[in-house]
Amino acid sequence: MPSAVCPGTFDPITNGHLDIIERSAYIYGKVVVAVGRGYGKETLFTVDEREELVAQSVSGISGAKVVVFDGLLVEFAREQSADVIVKGLRAVSDFEHEFQMALLNKRLAPGIETVFLMASPEYMFLSSSGVKEIAKFGGSVTGLVPGVVEMGLSGKYRG
Ligand code: ADP
Repeated sequence: MPSAVCPGTFDPITNGHLDIIERSAYIYGKVVVAVGRGYGKETLFTVDEREELVAQSVSGISGAKVVVFDGLLVEFAREQSADVIVKGLRAVSDFEHEFQMALLNKRLAPGIETVFLMASPEYMFLSSSGVKEIAKFGGSVTGLVPGVVEMGLSGKYRG
């Protein structure tokens, strides 16, 4: 049975990410949630904070573990003995970028497949950046992110 890697920046993890992780765990049994260090990206949460929020959020999903990574995703997948990269696809806008990444990764590592799961309709509109925008201006993110993330966001934007 192949095991899977679910990569992302997770700045922060949302219920949309969680849905993809849960469905991957259901399909593949084992899922490594790969938290990208995000060099060159300005993130709201540090990599340690993002890792901790992901770890707490996936603690109820059996077969899921969290690992921080940097460098090439396909190398990381090999190190983790994973042969499938699972990505969530929202609207058409995700497609072009994801298609390009999948083809580049296929060229680098032909033995590793990228598999796309369609976003669940209720999370189709949900993104980390949208959640940060709402939280920044004092809106409610209940139902969009796990409780620990809600607390983390209010800690960041308090005052
Ligand atoms: P981004 O790619 O916007 O920086 P992430 O790196 O955290 O965000 O996203 C990791 C993966 O999760 C990507 O494959 C992305 O398409 C997917 N994803 C993000 N939000 C959702 C969502 N609401 N539903 C399904 N998949 C999602």
